[in-house]
Amino acid sequence: MEFAVIAQTLEILEKTTSKIQQAATLAMLFKKTPPSVIDKVVYLILGTLWPDWKGMPELGIAEKGIQKCIALATNTTEAEVEKLYKSLGDYGAAVERLKMSKQGKAAGLTAFIKSAKGVQGKKLDVETVYNALAKIAMLQGEGSRDMKLRLLTALLMDAEPKEAKYIVRFVEGRLRLGVGEATVMDGLASAFGVSRDLIERAYNVYPDLGAIAKLIAEKGGSAIRDIKPAPGIPLRPMLAERASDPVEIMNKAGVPALAEFKYDGERGQIHKKGEKVWIFSRRLEDITHQYPDVVEMVLKHVKADEAIIEGEMVAVDPETGEFKPFQELMHRKRKKDIHEAAKEYPVVVRLFDCLYVNGVDLTKRPLPERREWLKKIVEESEGFKIAEHTLVKDTKELEQFFLKAIESGCEGLVVKSLGIDSVYQAGVRGWLWIKYKRDYKSELSDTVDLVVVGAFHGRGKRAGTYGALLLAAYDPDTDRFVTVCKVGTGFTDEELAQLPKKLEPYKLPHKHQRVDSEIEADVWFEPALVMEVAGAEITLSPVHTCCWSWAKPETGISIRFPRFIRWREDKSPTEATTSKELFEMYLRKLKKIEKAEPKAEEV
Ligand code: ATP
Repeated sequence: MEFAVIAQTLEILEKTTSKIQQAATLAMLFKKTPPSVIDKVVYLILGTLWPDWKGMPELGIAEKGIQKCIALATNTTEAEVEKLYKSLGDYGAAVERLKMSKQGKAAGLTAFIKSAKGVQGKKLDVETVYNALAKIAMLQGEGSRDMKLRLLTALLMDAEPKEAKYIVRFVEGRLRLGVGEATVMDGLASAFGVSRDLIERAYNVYPDLGAIAKLIAEKGGSAIRDIKPAPGIPLRPMLAERASDPVEIMNKAGVPALAEFKYDGERGQIHKKGEKVWIFSRRLEDITHQYPDVVEMVLKHVKADEAIIEGEMVAVDPETGEFKPFQELMHRKRKKDIHEAAKEYPVVVRLFDCLYVNGVDLTKRPLPERREWLKKIVEESEGFKIAEHTLVKDTKELEQFFLKAIESGCEGLVVKSLGIDSVYQAGVRGWLWIKYKRDYKSELSDTVDLVVVGAFHGRGKRAGTYGALLLAAYDPDTDRFVTVCKVGTGFTDEELAQLPKKLEPYKLPHKHQRVDSEIEADVWFEPALVMEVAGAEITLSPVHTCCWSWAKPETGISIRFPRFIRWREDKSPTEATTSKELFEMYLRKLKKIEKAEPKAEEV
C-alpha cells in the first residue's frame, strides 16, 4: 500500500474537525487497506508505532537533527530550513515547501532520466515508512544518533512533499492526538460493519487497536468477541463514579455494599506469569522497574502461576508504618538508583481485585467471586494484603467506616456493589464503584482533572513565565477538548518558574485541532498534560465551551476560582474529567440550591 494514501488521509483529517467526517474518512481508508498492513496503518494514523503500554520509545531526533535531515534531503542549508520553520511555525510545512520547490526544478531532469531508462518512479509504501520509523525508534547506544539521522534523511529523500510533511510531523511527535482512539474505533466499526460497543469492549480488555483492526480485517467481527485478558497485556482499569451523599451512595450501591479504604497511592495492575511480573499504571504504562520491592512481594505471595490482580501501592513511614500521601511516591520516582529509593521510600500494597487466574477470565464474574479468587491466591503479609474492608448495610455503618478510613490516613472509601451484575467493567466509569472522599469544605465536592491547552503570558512578577493556563475537559462524544477555566493560583514559586520548560515540548503555532476554544490564548499546546484543580463552584459561562448550550443556549459552564493542586502524570488527556461529569456536578449544585431555597410557592 502506498504511503501517499496515508498522507492524503492525514491531510483530509487535518482539515476537518467533525468527528463524524473524520470517522467516515478513516472508514474509507480502512476499506482499501490490505489486512496485512492495517495494524501499521492504524498506529501511524494515531501518530505512534505500537500501543503505548509496550513503551513508546522516543524517536530520539531533536529539533536540530530534524533540521539537518531536511537540509540534507532537500539540498539546502540548515539556516534556510530554520528560517522557513520560523515563518511557517512547523517543520512539516517547511519540508513540504522545500521539497515542492526543489521538485519543480528537478522534475524535468528526473522525468528525462526515467523515460530514458524506462523506469517508473519508486513510491514509498506503508511498510517501508513504518519499518524505517520503527528502526529509528529502536536504535540505541553509541553511533545511534548518526544512524537515526541517516535513516530519516533517506526516507525524506524518497518522499513526495506531502509524505515528507507527515513523516516529519510524526518524528516531531505532532501527529499524536491528531485523531483519537475513539474516532479510529468509529472508523473501524463503519468500515467492517462491526458493532462499535464490541470493538470498545475488546479494546478495553486488550488495548491494542492495531491488533484489533487486524483481527477484524482478517477474520471478521466475531474474532474479537472473545478476547480475553492475558498476562503482560494491561486491561484498561475500571473507574469509579463520585458521590458525596451517603443516602445516594447506599441507594446506588445496594445493600449490603462492600466499603473499602480508598488509599492515596498509585494504582498498580499486577500481572504474573511464572517468574515474570509486570506492574502497569493507571495509564497502562509499564512501571515494573519502579517497584522492584513489589515484584519481590508478588513472587513471594501470589500463589498462582498466572494471575492479574489490582491494588494500590501506598507509601508508608518505615518507622511508624503510617500511610504517607501520594506525593511521597514521586520522591521515589525521581531517585536514580531505584533499589536505594525503594529502601528510602518503602511502599505497601493493598489489593482490591482479581481479573484473571490461570487461563480463567474473571472480568465477567461478579465482585464476590473475584474477591474469593483474590483471597485464594494471595498469601497475605503486612506489606502485601487485601484492602481494609467491611460490609455496610446503612448510611450509619458507611459513615462510621468512612471516619475510620480518614483516621487511618486514607482519602475516604470506595463503595462497591456486590450484585449479580457487579462485573469488572474494564475502561468504564460506572456506579458499580463509588468513591466517597473527604469534602473540600464548601467547595466542589471533588477536585477535577483538566488538560492544559493554552497559556497567557505573565506580567510584572510573573514576567518570563505564564500568568495563567487555559484548561479543558474531555468530551468523549465528540472526542474533543472543551475549555472550562483559566488557572493562575495554587502554584508554588518553583512550580511557576518551571511552567515554560514543562510545557515547551507541547507548544503549537496554532490552536490544536481537537481543542474548542472561544478564548484566544497567547500560546497554544497539544492537549497532553493533566492537572488536578480544586474550585469554588461550577457556574454558567458565556465564553467557555464546556457543555456548550447544554444548560442554556449559547452558554457553557466554568469553574469559579480554580486552584492548581498537582500534576496528574498518571492520567492521559482523554482520562481527564469529562464534560458530562462536570455537567452532573453542575446539576447537583442546582439541586442543593433548590433544597436550600424552597421555591416561593412552597413557602
Ligand atoms: P479515577 O481513577 O476515578 O479517574 P482519580 O484517578 O482521580 O479518579 P481517585 O479519585 O483518587 O482517582 O479515585 C479512584 C482511584 O482510587 C483508583 O484509580 C485507585 O487508584 C484508587 N483506589 C484506592 N483504593 C481503592 C480501592 N479500595 N478500590 C478501588 N480503587 C482504589
